[in-house]
Amino acid sequence: MTEALTPRCCPVCQARFRGQSICSRCGADLKPVMFLIAVAYRCRAAARQALLAGKFKQAETLASQAQAACSTPLGSDLLLLSRWLVSLGSERHQRSRRRVKEHRPVRQGSANLVKLHRQILRAVDRLESTLRRLPAPSPRKKRSRRMAGRIKARSRV
Ligand SMILES: [Zn+2]
Repeated sequence: MTEALTPRCCPVCQARFRGQSICSRCGADLKPVMFLIAVAYRCRAAARQALLAGKFKQAETLASQAQAACSTPLGSDLLLLSRWLVSLGSERHQRSRRRVKEHRPVRQGSANLVKLHRQILRAVDRLESTLRRLPAPSPRKKRSRRMAGRIKARSRV
């Protein structure tokens, strides 16, 4: 966590930055630089916390802000990692949305099947109640038909 405290240069004379508010060589006011380093440090710390919390988009924003305030190689890595995780998340999101879209016709089809099944059950119920209301077939008719056959056979003889 000391990356923000790594030695930097005075923006005026390139003398090593010793963490003092005035450059030891040229006397330039380094407070704005120190302020930006502190801002970047806080942003990166918050970005790391966001990464740990799984808030990748927030981490990307914070890492990007840190790089804009004061870029470092480690800050660049943090930003790349955040961007990669965000892209993975959005890929997964798109994949799940695609899956939902693909399953929509299947779900619609199964809903239609359920409707059709209900209609068939209702039709079977109606058919059964209609059949119950009809008189039972009389055994006399069968006999009479058989008898008619016998009569025909006899008449041929
Ligand atoms: Zn200087």
